[in-house]
Amino acid sequence: MKRDIRCLTCRKDIEVALKAESEPYKIVRGHAINNFLCDGCGIELKKDATVYAVSIWHRNHGAGYEPWESEYVTTPVTEAEVA
Ligand SMILES: [Zn+2]
Repeated sequence: MKRDIRCLTCRKDIEVALKAESEPYKIVRGHAINNFLCDGCGIELKKDATVYAVSIWHRNHGAGYEPWESEYVTTPVTEAEVA
């Protein structure tokens, strides 16, 4: 499973790509528990900023989704889930 912390712009970009590829994914919005760098564009995401935790996995091989978001964000809200 791939785990990304992303800014709003990169969250939108990857969702468009994932929909096109029909890959399962989950996007959770939350507040950063620390300073992070966006895995899409590298912009600095400050502690307490709104960030997006993106999980990507393959439907037919490898492990499925496992929760990890609480290690990176507080107050998680699921925005999109395609299993
Ligand atoms: Zn970004």
